[in-house]
Amino acid sequence: MTRSTAETEAVRIARERFGIDGTPSELPGYEDVNTRIDSSAGTSWVLKVSPSTSDLSTIHLTQEAMTAVDGSAFACPQALPTKGGEFFATFPDGSIASLHTWVDGVSHADRGHPQAAAVSIGRTAGEIVEMLSTISTDTVRTDRQWDLRYCVDTIKSLSYHLSSTTQRSMIDTVVDRISTVPVDDLPVQVIHSDLNTSNLLLKGDTVVGVIDFGDARNTIRIAELAIACAYAMLHQDDPVAVASRVCMGYREFSEPSDIEATHLFDLILGRLATSLCIAASVPGTNPHHHDTVDATWELLARLVAADMTAISVELRAAALGRQLPEPDHQPLLEARVVLGPSLTLSYSEPLHIVRGSGQYLFDNRARRYLDCVNNVAHVGHSEPRVVDAAAAQMAVLNTNTRYLHGNVLRYARRLAATMPDHLDTVFIVNSGSEANELAIRLARTATGRWDLVCIQDGYHGNTSTLIEVSPYKFDGPGGHGRQSWVHVLPSPDPYRNIRYSGPDAGANYRIDAQRMLDDVEPAALIIEALPGCGGQLVPEPDVVAAAYDSAHERGGLVIADEVQTGLGRVGAAFWAFQLHDVMPDIVTIGKPAGNGHPLAAVVTTSAIAQAFDNQMEYFNTFGGNPVSAAIGNAVLDVIHDDELQENARVVGTALVEGMWELADRMTPIGDVRGSGLFIGIELVNDSESREPAPALASAVVEYAKAHGVLLSIDGPQHNVIKIKPPLVFTLDNAATVVAVIGDALDSTS
Ligand code: PMP
Repeated sequence: MTRSTAETEAVRIARERFGIDGTPSELPGYEDVNTRIDSSAGTSWVLKVSPSTSDLSTIHLTQEAMTAVDGSAFACPQALPTKGGEFFATFPDGSIASLHTWVDGVSHADRGHPQAAAVSIGRTAGEIVEMLSTISTDTVRTDRQWDLRYCVDTIKSLSYHLSSTTQRSMIDTVVDRISTVPVDDLPVQVIHSDLNTSNLLLKGDTVVGVIDFGDARNTIRIAELAIACAYAMLHQDDPVAVASRVCMGYREFSEPSDIEATHLFDLILGRLATSLCIAASVPGTNPHHHDTVDATWELLARLVAADMTAISVELRAAALGRQLPEPDHQPLLEARVVLGPSLTLSYSEPLHIVRGSGQYLFDNRARRYLDCVNNVAHVGHSEPRVVDAAAAQMAVLNTNTRYLHGNVLRYARRLAATMPDHLDTVFIVNSGSEANELAIRLARTATGRWDLVCIQDGYHGNTSTLIEVSPYKFDGPGGHGRQSWVHVLPSPDPYRNIRYSGPDAGANYRIDAQRMLDDVEPAALIIEALPGCGGQLVPEPDVVAAAYDSAHERGGLVIADEVQTGLGRVGAAFWAFQLHDVMPDIVTIGKPAGNGHPLAAVVTTSAIAQAFDNQMEYFNTFGGNPVSAAIGNAVLDVIHDDELQENARVVGTALVEGMWELADRMTPIGDVRGSGLFIGIELVNDSESREPAPALASAVVEYAKAHGVLLSIDGPQHNVIKIKPPLVFTLDNAATVVAVIGDALDSTS
């Protein structure tokens, strides 16, 4: 039957059998055909036509359930009799029609899944369970697919419809867990059985209506809470916390027993897996069925990657009204001793991150965090095209550059093609440090000189030589100070050094650099065009060129350290040095190149590479291996295909603008600067004196973390909030960051 015929038919049935008249409109339905009918007087009803396979006792049970909850805190539809006084009309083909009152309201789903509704959702589920407990029934529904008591059977019988191995393996994990649930020992009663977010109507954050009792059945009682939790957890940053609040509300009306609480989480997983398997088995386009599928996979992937035992314990406690257990990182913290004490962890309460996807990270409780820190995951955490390229090549071959192989050549050519023409020779290595170390060897060999020039507060890597050209380290705690062969130019910080701000900045820097390098014969200057550890600086025009010139004029080379800034991050250019009118002799690339896989590179001129060929062979065991090169190529593909450089420009610009708007009303924001998605926000205690505010910066970072946004701090005074997220960051993400920093500053002032 086409929809319009169905609607005409519905109007006819409503008139002839139920004595009401009105205009029809379509409503979603699973097996039933549901039509809304609006009378001219403003009354609305739902006419439900159930297929001939429906059995009358099931429909009777539905109506009994609706009657039983009449008088509860929320509205729900009530069945209206036919002209002949029956509660449903039957037809010769076996189909059945019933007419229900219309319940007005906007569903939780249509309201955008507000997490604040969680307690009310729980209360509603609890109240329904309480009110339906009075029904005693012999009705056994024949449709067992949606009965959570039989979820293992349903999932096992349908999972073959899933085509993706990742999806199947998630479902297998769920089946392993839920197979042990002792369903026969769980208390049974009639429940609504489908408290999904489309069936809960809200006013504000309160459930004021419950619709669709068509799934009501006699089954395990705890399924009501499990189903309410499963759907309330969709689209949430912290789904386990939301489920805990659903439990809290539920307990106001109904207290789960110990065994029910123990298996609550398993049954939540069971419901999620059931709905995914059923969706996969129904290939049609019924939106009612497929709407929530993506969100359900997303949630399931998070839960399966998380510490499911801990989540189960947490939800059991919530269901029993007990104090929730604190996250316990102690075992891992103690085990970390094996890594030595010099590695520090981020945040006062460390994070245990178990999964990443796009611009998000997920902890072991499936909580989602917006990642503004990991510039390494350049094209997004676990980017599928990168993962696939790595897995495919790993499965075939991984060797080294002593054999001919196309991957490394293609990668080297593609990298060189992004550079000025003279930079045509590429060395592939494994880390930013290794790239800078090799760059220094190249410069020293090519110039026959030893001395190096760097910039105040610069950081270039963790090897002995690189610490010696990293004032951020050698001048910091545990550092040994400056070596005699190292020469340090001033930080080109326009906010803190008045000489390097404004129209004279370049000229002033030129004078100062010339003076400082007066009698120096450097092998090279190593410099970031946008200094990162120096405080996410954006030097004034001509300042970087002045630094370059100071080295070039003395016969030295310039190494552009693009480890933080390269591959499109800065938006307006592919490489940060291109933001300035300069020509490096050597460019080093690291962090983002392999999207998390250790891949880095040095790009230089053929003349420098020739000079390096001095009989001492250069070999790098891992550098340029076929797997790394395949990954590097995939990263370049994604940057190009998804136009991520342009995205960095658009989103970065919006973020900086948003932060400046915030700065207008928030005095601790002393400066906002950046290019693309390489941004720094400098916090000060006083906008006049510009006294750095490191404690405030830490407080903001902790607040943001508690609200699901990961930020970090840098700069010599530890007062610059650093933002360098995966380039898949969206405008919404940028708005979230601005809002959370604003709230953090509000809450600390
Ligand atoms: N150069 C810069 C500018 C860096 O920020 C870093 C790392 N923070 C490095 C080099 C060293 O890179 P890696 O840690 O990969 O050795």
